[in-house]
Amino acid sequence: MRLEVASLSHIGQVRQRNEDAMGYFEPAEPQVLDGKGSLFIVADGMGGHRGGEIASQLAVDTILEAYYASGESDPAKALDFAFRKANEAIIEKSRNDVSLYGMGTTCTALVVREDEGFFAHVGDSRAYLFRGNELKQLTEDHSLVGEMVRSGILTDEEARTHPRRNVITRSIGTHEDLAVEFSKAPLPLVDGDVFVLCSDGLTSLVGQGELKTVIASNPPRKTCDVLVDLANEHGGKDNVTVQIVKCRAS
Ligand code: CA
Repeated sequence: MRLEVASLSHIGQVRQRNEDAMGYFEPAEPQVLDGKGSLFIVADGMGGHRGGEIASQLAVDTILEAYYASGESDPAKALDFAFRKANEAIIEKSRNDVSLYGMGTTCTALVVREDEGFFAHVGDSRAYLFRGNELKQLTEDHSLVGEMVRSGILTDEEARTHPRRNVITRSIGTHEDLAVEFSKAPLPLVDGDVFVLCSDGLTSLVGQGELKTVIASNPPRKTCDVLVDLANEHGGKDNVTVQIVKCRAS
């Protein structure tokens, strides 16, 4: 697949810092591209002092490096290795600096290798796949309200504005044990597929219908701009980060 990529992160209208981080790597070397594919990451940090922004950036940097350094040829296994490295790196840094104690981060990572997609995910950032005018959320929200939606107590719409929507149940860097959610099988890709990775600053302010309409009617760069503008117009209560990967059969 030939990939068209755009990403944008914005502090929002209320926060003093942007604790989201993002990154991606598309290897130029054909051997690396064929073996490992391209990697896309969005992370949303939490913690006092500067902990949140340090944790999310450390996760992005560590995962980018460890994924390509891993000897695993299976993307899911290489992602698992990379997420565990990030967990260790954040725990170690928070142990060495008391002001960073308790910091952690969500992380949603996508690999596109040839005509297959793979994801790994912890927390309440999200990955979506837009295909054939349908927008499907690929990841589960590892949050209190996410669990309440899955057990039928809340609807998606109720969860979006719930007062306890910020309580997340899994994060990187806060426990030695890390439970990562993976794509159950490689996702076979078709021409025109659009992946969206985003932090909850987008999904708590922009509804799924609106999200779908914007993705359906704009190319990736414009999609990022419009979605960030919408989140800010709707109050911009949180940092907002969005990364779009459009797949083209070449
Ligand atoms: Ca957030």
